[in-house]
Amino acid sequence: MILLGPPGAGKGTQAKRLAEHLGVPQISTGDMLRAAVQAGSSLGRQAQSYMERGALVPDDVIVGLVRERLTQPDAKAGYILDGFPRTLGQAEALEAQGVKLDAVLALEVPAEDVVRRIAGRRTCAKCGAMSHVTFSPTRTSGVCDACGGETVQRADDREETVRRRLEVYAEQTAPLVRFYERAGLLRRVPGTGTIAEIFARALQALG
Ligand code: AMP
Repeated sequence: MILLGPPGAGKGTQAKRLAEHLGVPQISTGDMLRAAVQAGSSLGRQAQSYMERGALVPDDVIVGLVRERLTQPDAKAGYILDGFPRTLGQAEALEAQGVKLDAVLALEVPAEDVVRRIAGRRTCAKCGAMSHVTFSPTRTSGVCDACGGETVQRADDREETVRRRLEVYAEQTAPLVRFYERAGLLRRVPGTGTIAEIFARALQALG
């Protein structure tokens, strides 16, 4: 299945819960790209400048990355795609690969909530655990509850980059909602409320 939604909709959070619940991997292209940047690999060097300015990494790069990931043994019984596809070209590439989707969950969140959520979002620099300064603060400010690492703001979560990412979403990714609606796969999930409430709605939408 696919999780669709604007930046800050809670895709990563819900994908992680759903993956645990369903016993399938969460495949997050954003996480894969950030790991590549951190490792300084050639993929990371290609992706970094796009990510820093809130633009999308070119389709051919990302399609190749996902194609390879889907051949891994843990993806045999299914997976949750988080942050992919993000363009019609990517969606068509997935189809051309013969992937049969069960569902596309669209997390719907008003634009003003998105900005508030992203501004307060923090990630542990060491283990990647997510927190939020207002909605799910760590016990000690700036310190990860899980591993004691430092919690930092993602470079592309800065306000001007967020605005650009929202524009990119509206232009390039929002058309996928119609695309999957026409294919009869779309399930709309209101993405406001607590993490647990949204998770319950997502499960209900999946039947
Ligand atoms: P995310 O963590 O999903 O918000 O992704 C962070 C950044 O990684 C995005 O702003 C893009 O620059 C890049 N990225 C992630 N997934 C994709 C994708 N499917 N297509 C193109 N770029 C992507």
